Amino acid sequence: MHNNNFIKNLLGFKDVIVTKILNTDNCFEIYLEMKKKPHTCPCCNSQTRRVHDYRIQRVKHIPLFLKPTVLVIKKRRYRCNICGKRFYEHIEFLPRYYRITNLLSMYVITELTNTYSMSSLA
Ligand SMILES: [Zn+2]
Repeated sequence: MHNNNFIKNLLGFKDVIVTKILNTDNCFEIYLEMKKKPHTCPCCNSQTRRVHDYRIQRVKHIPLFLKPTVLVIKKRRYRCNICGKRFYEHIEFLPRYYRITNLLSMYVITELTNTYSMSSLA
């Protein structure tokens, strides 16, 4: 919805979905997943949309607001219908995710500000 559009524009990654942000006592946890889309099998090049399973990958981010920050990425594993090969989806920002740090910080600030002002109204 609104948040997804926001982060799409902000990060320039149209396939990234932020599902939630946890602000715990010890750290920030930012939950991400990729939009589901057809993937090409690395073995036989056929297209598949069949999801085999998921795996949670935690990636340490640099601290936001002096707090340790972790990206919790729900990685999807696809299965090829033709040859049966299982493979992880491509996550484009992972090799270069440090670039998004500043933008991600802005996003988290906005989210926290919204949450805070909503709870103080209540
Ligand atoms: Zn295949």
